[in-house]
Amino acid sequence: MKKSLNQRVHHSLNHSVHRTLLTLLLAAGLNASVTAQAANTNDSALIKAIDQTLDQIQPEIIALRHDIHQHPELGNREVRTSQLVAERLRKLGLEVRTGVAVTGVVAVLKGGKPGPVIALRSELDALPVREQTGLPYASTAKGEYEGNEVGIMHACGHDAHIAILLGVAEALAKHKSQLAGSVKFIFQPAEEGPPGEEEGGAALMVKEGALENPRPDAIFMLHVSAGESGSLSIAKGPTTASSDHFTAKIIGAQTHGAAPWRGIDPVPIAAEIILAWQQIPSRHTDIVNQRPPVISVGRVDGGQRHNIIPESITLDATLRTKSDGQRDDVLKRLEQISTHIAEAYGAHTEFKVDPRNWPAGFNEPDFVDKVIPSLKSAAATGNKPFKVSTTSGYAGEDFWAFGKIVPALAFGLSVTPPHIPVAKAASNHSPFFLVDDDALIIGQKAFSRIVVDFLANKGYGIKKKAE
Ligand SMILES: [Zn+2]
Ligand SMILES: [Zn+2]
Repeated sequence: MKKSLNQRVHHSLNHSVHRTLLTLLLAAGLNASVTAQAANTNDSALIKAIDQTLDQIQPEIIALRHDIHQHPELGNREVRTSQLVAERLRKLGLEVRTGVAVTGVVAVLKGGKPGPVIALRSELDALPVREQTGLPYASTAKGEYEGNEVGIMHACGHDAHIAILLGVAEALAKHKSQLAGSVKFIFQPAEEGPPGEEEGGAALMVKEGALENPRPDAIFMLHVSAGESGSLSIAKGPTTASSDHFTAKIIGAQTHGAAPWRGIDPVPIAAEIILAWQQIPSRHTDIVNQRPPVISVGRVDGGQRHNIIPESITLDATLRTKSDGQRDDVLKRLEQISTHIAEAYGAHTEFKVDPRNWPAGFNEPDFVDKVIPSLKSAAATGNKPFKVSTTSGYAGEDFWAFGKIVPALAFGLSVTPPHIPVAKAASNHSPFFLVDDDALIIGQKAFSRIVVDFLANKGYGIKKKAE
């Protein structure tokens, strides 16, 4: 799968003319499939009924989102959120499993007729961010993260994802007799990464059987972000980047600030390493055929006082790459550079890569084509734009640990409240990040349509491709 990703990137970069043609062909195909879908009167009656239910329950879903927003919990600590989710799903008559990957919830809704299994996934966790939105339901929650007291906020919009999925569960449960197949709801803890050395997130959910009994034929997620409220988008091909957390501890010898020659000062060595690492994207990456990696040192840690040269400095950093091959190569170079620069000055480096990697995301283009009509139709209910994108960023998303096991697709919902110009909207992870309540229903209509269309079309015959 990763090899074909490289080939595709290479191909599209060198054949922009073909891409234009492809876009035209795609647009023509889209119109055809939308028409074909509209002709299916049974499904459109079902979708209409589901839409009506969604309209009715919106005030409750919005209130639910505000409640979750006001009570955020950090990764692997989502106790209240998990209970709230499990209780609601049980009330809807779903089979509910709790405690999957610490606080995860997995629930199955069985349709009235046999058919394929589709899974929908939401995250449960919030971030160590002190909220500054000034909203009436802003979070004042505090907690402990990596030994520090922190504010906690749903700054990535996972509160919206939870509310959206609960809305979908309620609407589909009401009309389950008309569904030909089952829907698995996966509420996942610790997407932003479990604390300390703890295991958690999508990989642990897979390990603890979230994708078994029954195994879904495909899994879907959406993510909210800044943009015109209610608009939907899907990337064709690469989506999120492979994300790694690594540290380099530069160990010298402690001494008086007035007598650096009596020790080994790790501070200038660390500075040199930070700069040298940036030569990997600029000097060592074939940027004609490859997207460059991103290396960001988010934390430089060491020292006690201005006049004591510390024994060590720890560089705490993230690496983002667009393929497994590139990831392996860059990790090797990062280690080599930090080891050899430290050695040149008589210091040494302890280089560590966190084993919890977020794999690169990839939306199979054939699969994307199948769900475009569902997304387009959902956006149209609010007169909102829908866009297929061919670009991708460097954010990480651990959803792709599910995607290693079953076919997976991720799409986007924009949520900037209309009174804020999109260009000025705070991004995810900002203490000012905002979600427009009116965007939630478009997300619910998108998931509902994907479920109805996927089941009605017997899972589109999508099969997991060999790695
Ligand atoms: Zn996030
Ligand atoms: Zn997120």
